[in-house]
Amino acid sequence: MRVLLANPRGFCAGVAMAVEVVDRLTNVLEEPIYVYHDIVHNRHVVNRFEAKGVVFTEAIETIPEGSVLVFSAHGVSPEVRQKAKARKLRAVDATCPLVTKVHGEAIRYAKAGLDILLIGHADHQEVIGTRGEAPGEIRVIESEADAEAIEVFDPSKVVYLTQTTLSTDDAGRIITILKRRFPAIKAPPGEDICYATTNRQGVVAEFADQVDRVLVIGSSNSSNSVRLAEIAENRGTKAMRIDDVREIDPQFLDGAGRVLVTAGASAPEDLVQQVIAHLRANYNASIEVINAPGEAMEFALPPTMRKVLSAEGHEVPREGISIDADRVTREWMGREAILFTPITAKGNCL
Ligand code: SF4
Repeated sequence: MRVLLANPRGFCAGVAMAVEVVDRLTNVLEEPIYVYHDIVHNRHVVNRFEAKGVVFTEAIETIPEGSVLVFSAHGVSPEVRQKAKARKLRAVDATCPLVTKVHGEAIRYAKAGLDILLIGHADHQEVIGTRGEAPGEIRVIESEADAEAIEVFDPSKVVYLTQTTLSTDDAGRIITILKRRFPAIKAPPGEDICYATTNRQGVVAEFADQVDRVLVIGSSNSSNSVRLAEIAENRGTKAMRIDDVREIDPQFLDGAGRVLVTAGASAPEDLVQQVIAHLRANYNASIEVINAPGEAMEFALPPTMRKVLSAEGHEVPREGISIDADRVTREWMGREAILFTPITAKGNCL
């Protein structure tokens, strides 16, 4: 078997920052840490934190007054913030800055009196949070059929926004319909689908037709992991999303000579390496790394975390949290990795 290992893959800077926030709080504070929703959409990450005593909940009213509450990377609505304030919770906001950017756009366009069409999955935590910024002005567009059917109050005053982790293919088709129906529709000032989503999808889109199978490591509630498998399937290559190595189906790999391995933005690298070790041991796999250099991103730790830690007399780190996809690969793969086929990372990478 020849394995093509996608690079970039796995943790984005937003996920790394959110995970770091919970990790530091649990290491430093002796009280229980509460997290609203899964900190990131990965079962292993959540299980590991639960084993350290972190409590994940959707019910703010059940959290003891005065506790530390972390908002997940997906962001929350003003209503959730208000509930946390009413219970006097010490809130730490681990929302990814690229999600916060979309919230800001929603607030700005709602104030300007525009009809906002939010392209995304209505039941996804990020969309629930963004929609909550202006529930009267925002309507969610989930599909091409929705885009064909939606009516707006004034076609000259309409804007679209998108969930950060959508398939660029799906979003593109929906936007094309909206532009045909509402030629004056405004686009967000910068791309809402984030750099990490774009880059991970770009690798799959470029290499799916060169392999027999695509394995995506990520949880079923991870939007961007599910999209990676869909993008491969849409190009005619069988794909399977797995939470970890135990879910590999030997029948799926039967007869596969070339396999692309990638991971969603919330999947830890050790899970990827377990899959690689399994493919080496059981399929005599050689590993080659698809090298898309340039994805390095750094996000600052949230000011709210500094506030909570310094109020307890703890030192607050100054540095941000960075993720460098090339470094991740070098550290894990060492000399065994063969870098080949440079492609250009897309999106707003640094
Ligand atoms: S996938 Fe994108 S928007 Fe979501 S946490 Fe990562 S960088 Fe932020």
